[in-house]
Amino acid sequence: MSDKSLSGAELAELVTGLHRLARNLWWTWNQEAQEIFQELSPRCWQNLYHNAVAILQEVSEYELHVRLQDHDFAHRVRSVLHEFEAYLSEPETWGNQNAPKLVKNPVAYFSAEFGFHETLPIAAGGLGVLAGDHAKSASDLGLGFIGISLFYREGYFQQTVNQDNWQTEYYTLLNPRNLPLEPVLDPRGEPLVCSVEIAMSQVYFQAWRVNVGRCPVYLLDSNRPENEQRFRDLTLRVYGGDSTTRIMQEILLGIGGVRLLRALGVQPSTFHMNEGHAAFLTLELVREKLAAGQILRDALANSKQECIFTTHTPVEAGHDRFSTDLMNYALLKMMGQLKLSIQDLMGLGRVKPENESETFCMTVLALKGSRAANGVSELHGQVSRSMWQGLYPGLTVDQVPIGYITNGIHLLGWMKGPVRRFWRRKLSSPPAEAVAAGEGTRFWALKPGLNWNRDMNTKAFWERMGDPSFISDEEIWALRYKLRRELIEFARRRLLIQGQRLLHGDFISFDHLLNPDALTIGFARRFATYKRAPLIFQQLEDIVKLIGDKQRPLQFVFAGKAHPRDDEGKRFIQHIIHLSKYTELKGSLVFIENYDVHVARQMVSGCDIWLNNPRRPLEASGTSGQKTSCHGCLNLSILDGWWREGYDGTNGFAIGDDSHPDSIEEQDRRDSTNLFRVLTEEVIPTFYARDAQGVPRKWIAKIRSAMVTLVPQFNTWRMVQEYADKYYIKR
Ligand SMILES: *Cc1c(COP(=O)(O)O)cnc(C)c1O
Repeated sequence: MSDKSLSGAELAELVTGLHRLARNLWWTWNQEAQEIFQELSPRCWQNLYHNAVAILQEVSEYELHVRLQDHDFAHRVRSVLHEFEAYLSEPETWGNQNAPKLVKNPVAYFSAEFGFHETLPIAAGGLGVLAGDHAKSASDLGLGFIGISLFYREGYFQQTVNQDNWQTEYYTLLNPRNLPLEPVLDPRGEPLVCSVEIAMSQVYFQAWRVNVGRCPVYLLDSNRPENEQRFRDLTLRVYGGDSTTRIMQEILLGIGGVRLLRALGVQPSTFHMNEGHAAFLTLELVREKLAAGQILRDALANSKQECIFTTHTPVEAGHDRFSTDLMNYALLKMMGQLKLSIQDLMGLGRVKPENESETFCMTVLALKGSRAANGVSELHGQVSRSMWQGLYPGLTVDQVPIGYITNGIHLLGWMKGPVRRFWRRKLSSPPAEAVAAGEGTRFWALKPGLNWNRDMNTKAFWERMGDPSFISDEEIWALRYKLRRELIEFARRRLLIQGQRLLHGDFISFDHLLNPDALTIGFARRFATYKRAPLIFQQLEDIVKLIGDKQRPLQFVFAGKAHPRDDEGKRFIQHIIHLSKYTELKGSLVFIENYDVHVARQMVSGCDIWLNNPRRPLEASGTSGQKTSCHGCLNLSILDGWWREGYDGTNGFAIGDDSHPDSIEEQDRRDSTNLFRVLTEEVIPTFYARDAQGVPRKWIAKIRSAMVTLVPQFNTWRMVQEYADKYYIKR
């Protein structure tokens, strides 16, 4: 490296590169890139909630120039930018090799929500996080892929809890200029504006592009001056308002999304509906074909060939239904264009088209309008087949054409930065003895064609975890301590802020909250009632006894949002916070407010046990438990969704067996008893069985087993390939 200062041209190149990097979410799964933004202003990094675009606005052009005269810093910026450019222009991707046709005619993936990163809170929960992870892996794989969603300028709600321990919601306005969004422009440099017909109105919208590595995701935004206020507010909030808002949002998403793609000159080979919300896109495809001169029957059949559908839940409330009146009102103009009567239209959304008492179901429209459909785990596939058997008269449940692809997570995006570095170091550098013995090539870093994005998802990579010559029990245990400590310090910071708000400055010593040596059990997800957040406290006295055991301490960290209109979910939150303040659980149970992907990342890495106790079979897949394995946190879960496939007896803990009773009361009773039994007979004894060195060998063996068996399987690198093989490439 030379000592002379950077030339003006070099400086300009690095500055431009940093701005480009900040507006591509690739940086969110690259540790070195994150550290550059963090280092520019550590305080803003924390206060602005890890927002790279905002950091670059905080730091003046002059400061940036001065900072880049630090050779080491400039060198790291240069190398990250180099890696970024290499990623974007990589010629030999999985997609190029296996799905070259999708380069010209990509998959258009429609989802009402996308969860990418904490700075863009436009997801309500797991569905959106899955969509975000799908897009990230599509990019890593180099697949022809475009996402479509809405830009909710107030996003999903932020959660606080008031004096009565009752969830309250507030919203903050998102400013596109401070976010990794780029306006989609027409050739004159003006926002590209398209429109859809809603009720009797023409509703205009523009779009924002999120760069997810190589893949664009377009967010439709109806906040246009041409629109009446009520239509400008259509894209205000994620699933905001009543069913009228809902149907209008879905018209915008489905029909507007197709129109935006056409305006961009994109001809997708497949339209993938992630949940039924986007199913109106099938009507737009039919309308296009009618306009091109096809007869209705052909238009329906041909549009069906272009679509696939993923259903995500057996929970009834998860399937949008609209009344005949609402359909008639909201889709009046569209019906005219489709030359369909309201009866014909309603028929498309009914199991029995003639049945006038049936409402219009978006899932039914999606199933009828797709050439293939799938659930998100093996069990959920089965459940969906029996749920929708009525749509396929004459077929047995097994013949119902709904398959399954089990969900995954985007591994690099979820793996905490220091952990990523830890595994890379451990698996990269061969000990001198190994090299001397000519065994160096067993080590990953010496492999030809190394590619961490790819290799970290492979079985061969994680199989090394089973081999103590790569990493000792002591090192894994040290990592666990480090991650638990990071979670506890994060929780103390958050609880201090929560406490200050409620106590008006009363002093509470948050520095002693939670015990860094204690077995830490985490539970965080949406507080939908079927997930039964308070189940473990049903046997409160017994739990209190366990907590009282000073030799084998136990503690709980909870987080999660209830839907704004779900009072029962809010009562669950209230109950748990009440227990954390006014019972013997005080100090050993905390509730962290405002669950989001950042809180999730702290918890799935820092906890020892990830608790999941849904009412089977309602958890179609669940993904939060998949985020834990690479960090050495173990699952303790009902055999529902993905865990029914993941659990093998050695890699975590199961609550109950592969069955469930019909009665809900019986199920709750049985599950709570089983949960308590596994906890006291397996989890706690294994965690506290320490040898002479103080290391819980059997616990660590389970961690290794989870890494080898779960990490390479339950990721979106595998999942997106499966979608490509089964549904995107094959027709
Ligand atoms: C992963 C994740 C979810 C999904 O959790 P489940 O256990 O699958 O319900 C929900 N919300 C956030 C913020 C997540 O990160």
